[in-house]
Amino acid sequence: MYIASLNSGSNANYYYIGNGQEALLIDAGLSCRETERRMKQLRLAMGQVKALFVSHEHADHISGVPGIAKKYQLPVYITATTMRHANLPLDAAMVRSFKHGKAVSVGALSVLPFRKSHDAADPHSFMVSWWR
Ligand SMILES: [Zn+2]
Repeated sequence: MYIASLNSGSNANYYYIGNGQEALLIDAGLSCRETERRMKQLRLAMGQVKALFVSHEHADHISGVPGIAKKYQLPVYITATTMRHANLPLDAAMVRSFKHGKAVSVGALSVLPFRKSHDAADPHSFMVSWWR
């Protein structure tokens, strides 16, 4: 498994998690162009990214979601409550839901969302594992 923080801090939060063949993005607090630049620097292939997970609706976590989801046709996993608060301009066909304690499979990667305590409508963290 490979984990990279594309950025963290109060201005932008962004994580890349992959197994060398498939990868996920967790949150997207950077523009599409900046994401591509940083991934290139880290030698991460955007083509391996299969989905994007949104932890909560704060701007530093979601500002880049519509751009990157649209450009790379990524399904966006987000709870209905977060979606309502985030007000993201996403194609409904790209939106997937998830529930606390219910693992989501993305290729060989498994993502277990769990609620966390944060000043947001429906914040979650994710535990990512890889079945090989
Ligand atoms: Zn926040």
